[in-house]
Amino acid sequence: MKKLVVLGAGESGVGAALLGIQKEWQVFVSDMGVIAPQYKKELKEAGVDYEEKGHTRELILAADKVVKSPGIPDEAGLVVALRQNGTPVVSEIEFAGYYSSAKTICITGSNGKTTTTLLIHHLLQNAGVKVQLAGNVGTSFARQVATGGEPEWYVIELSSFQLDGMYDFKADIAVLMNITPDHLDRYDYNMQNYVDSKFRIVQNQTADDVFIYCQDDEIIVNELRKRILQADLIPFTQTEVLKQGAYSTVDELIINHNQESMGILLKELSLKGRHNLYNSMAASIVANVLKIRKKFIRDSLTSFKGVEHRLERVSAVRNIEFINDSKATNVNSTWYALECMDKKVIWIAGGVDKGNDYSELKELAAEKVKALICLGKDNVKLVENFKDSISTVVETTSMEEAVNTAYHLGEKGDVVLLSPACASFDLFKNYMQRGDQFKECVRNL
Ligand code: ADP
Repeated sequence: MKKLVVLGAGESGVGAALLGIQKEWQVFVSDMGVIAPQYKKELKEAGVDYEEKGHTRELILAADKVVKSPGIPDEAGLVVALRQNGTPVVSEIEFAGYYSSAKTICITGSNGKTTTTLLIHHLLQNAGVKVQLAGNVGTSFARQVATGGEPEWYVIELSSFQLDGMYDFKADIAVLMNITPDHLDRYDYNMQNYVDSKFRIVQNQTADDVFIYCQDDEIIVNELRKRILQADLIPFTQTEVLKQGAYSTVDELIINHNQESMGILLKELSLKGRHNLYNSMAASIVANVLKIRKKFIRDSLTSFKGVEHRLERVSAVRNIEFINDSKATNVNSTWYALECMDKKVIWIAGGVDKGNDYSELKELAAEKVKALICLGKDNVKLVENFKDSISTVVETTSMEEAVNTAYHLGEKGDVVLLSPACASFDLFKNYMQRGDQFKECVRNL
C-alpha cells in the first residue's frame, strides 16, 4: 500500500484523508496544532491514523506522497526535507483532481475570488446546471469527490497557496480576477513569484479550454505578453469596447461572445461598486460560455445577495451608516471600498500589515475620509502615512473603542466603513470574528 501523509487537519486535509483511505492509500494525518473534535471523530471512524500538536518526522518522511495544507509555508523545515527527499508535495485540490472527472471552473485573483465564485455558483444553479462549490469556500473538493455523486461542474475558488501545490490539475474554465501585491511574505517579497503562482491557473489548459481575465490589470496583461496560451482567451474591461468579452458603458454591462450579445443595466446589478462590476462581468462570461439563457443570467445578477463581511451594510444609527468590509485584508480591496463611497467616510483600518504600500490610498483617502480610526496593536505605519492627508487620526485597541469613537465623530449622513487593508491576527482570530465584533458593537450603539 502506498503511503499518503496529510499535513494539516482542517477541512481540506480531512477531506484528502477521507478520499485517500477510500482510494486505498495508507493514510497518516499530522497537525502541529490541535485537531477540531469533529474532524478527529471523522478520522477515527474512517480508520485514519493521526497525530496532533506536533509532527513525527520519520513517519512523514516515509510518505510516497504528501498533501499539504495551504497554510503551511514551503519554507517549513519538514516541507524542505520532503522536497530534498524527492517526495511529491501537492495541494488537496491536486489530489482530489486525480479522482474526479467533473468539469471545473476555477477562480483566482488577489481580490474578488469568493464573491465571484459564489456568484458563478448562484448563476449556474439558478439555470439548473448540476454544480457544486469547492475550494476555499465550504466543503472541500476532496471530501466531495470522496462522497460521490459528482456534479457536471465544480466551481472552485483557488488561492495562490493552493495553486502552488498543483501540477497536473487542469481548469476547464479559468478565471483570473486581478493581481495586486498580497502575501508577499510567502513569496520572498518577489512580486514575480506571486504572479507565477497565480498563473498556474492556466497550466495544462488546451485549445478546448477557456481563460477569462481582467484586461484592465496591467500585471496580468504584461504577463500574458510573455506567454503563449492554448486556451480561448476572453477578457473583461471597464475601459474599452470589446468584440469578444465583457465591457461596460456608463449605464450597461455588455457581453459579446460567439456572435451573441447581451446587455444588463448597471443599476439592476445587485452587487455595487466598480470592483463588483468586474466580478459580475467575469461571472456573466462564464455563463455565456456555458450557453446559459440570457434571462437566467440577468435574473441571477440582479438577485444575488452579496457575501458577508464584503461591503456588507450593517445598519444606520442616527443616520450614520455602518458598513462591514472586514474581508478587505489588503490595500487594493480597501481602495475599491473607499472608491465606491459617496458619503463622508469615517474609516476604521489597521491590523497586521503584509508589507502594505499605503501611497496608493493617499489621494482617495484625502478626498473621501474625514477621520481615520486605527485599530491594531501597532498603528505607527498607518498614522505616519495618513497624518498629513486626513485631518483626524485616532488610535484604538479594541473594536468597541473603535466603533464608539467612530460613532462620536460621526454626523448625520456620514458612513463608518470598516475596511482594514490588513490581516486581523493581532487582535482577532480571523476576519470573520473582526466583522462579527464590528456588527455586534454597532448593534449595541
Ligand atoms: P477574496 O476571496 O479574493 O479574498 P472576496 O470576494 O472575499 O475576495 O473579497 C475580499 C475583499 O475584496 C472585500 O473587501 C471585497 O469588497 C473586495 N473585492 C471584491 N471583489 C473585488 C475585486 N474584483 N477587486 C478588488 N477588490 C474586490
